Amino acid sequence: MKYFDAHSHYHDRKFSKDRHELLDKLQRSDVAYVVDCFGMDKLNFGLSLAKKYPFYYICINAHGWEKILDQYAKEDFDIKKHGPLVDAPIDEAVATLKNLCKENKKIVAYGECYIDFRKTEKTPAEVAKRSFVFSKDLEIARRVGLPPVIHSGNADNESFEIIKKADMPDYGHGKGMMHCYLGPPKMALDYIDMGYLISITGLVTHRSAHGKNLVEVVKRIPLSHMIIETDCPYLTPEPFRHKRNDSGLLRLTIEAIAELKNVSPQEVAEITTSNAKALYKIK
Ligand SMILES: [Zn+2]
Repeated sequence: MKYFDAHSHYHDRKFSKDRHELLDKLQRSDVAYVVDCFGMDKLNFGLSLAKKYPFYYICINAHGWEKILDQYAKEDFDIKKHGPLVDAPIDEAVATLKNLCKENKKIVAYGECYIDFRKTEKTPAEVAKRSFVFSKDLEIARRVGLPPVIHSGNADNESFEIIKKADMPDYGHGKGMMHCYLGPPKMALDYIDMGYLISITGLVTHRSAHGKNLVEVVKRIPLSHMIIETDCPYLTPEPFRHKRNDSGLLRLTIEAIAELKNVSPQEVAEITTSNAKALYKIK
């Protein structure tokens, strides 16, 4: 059974002691592909990993352009007044990323395009600012020509409205992926109608509220629009919940999905692999 880990963080410090050993082991296992997600500051190291490991691909982000808005974070963010401040840094990021993508075919996605209110209060100014930054991140993905990897935390309605207006093209199979989807099942179906893929994590094996919701999501959405990810080192599936996650443990997520969909793990692995390859345009 070969499978595709559509989103991971192998740059995380939790991998610093055994990153090479682990990637080497995973590449010789059932893990056919991994997409590692990081920022431009880690680019050289990421590219060296992409060169060394044929199964390793890159999701990159240009975060940093939004820092200029930090001084307006709390009370007085005004899109009309402060929005244009990011035009120049974004143009620069887009130009840099376009060149990078020309030279490096292993860069296959842009992200995470990020909107998250789990640690911030939803004041009107904060919602306006974060929504603006999120919509600009989607714009960067579109201008660079990469599918966006979308992170939405406690922002179901906000992200839905912005994504609806984002005017994203279809990249072959989908306009982007809803990374670590935690929203309502009905909304997952709406995203699929809009042309997005839903990404399922190891949380589907947890007995938490998120886990139970995700079970419903998996039951309701078709395998044709599902992909799977570890988000490692986080979100480790049961029974290893308190250990570090890696792509090898994705088989536990596959088995849970297979049981819920009443199909074989093999079938889940094959379909989600082909979906992720199509989204990321990997031959
Ligand atoms: Zn992630």
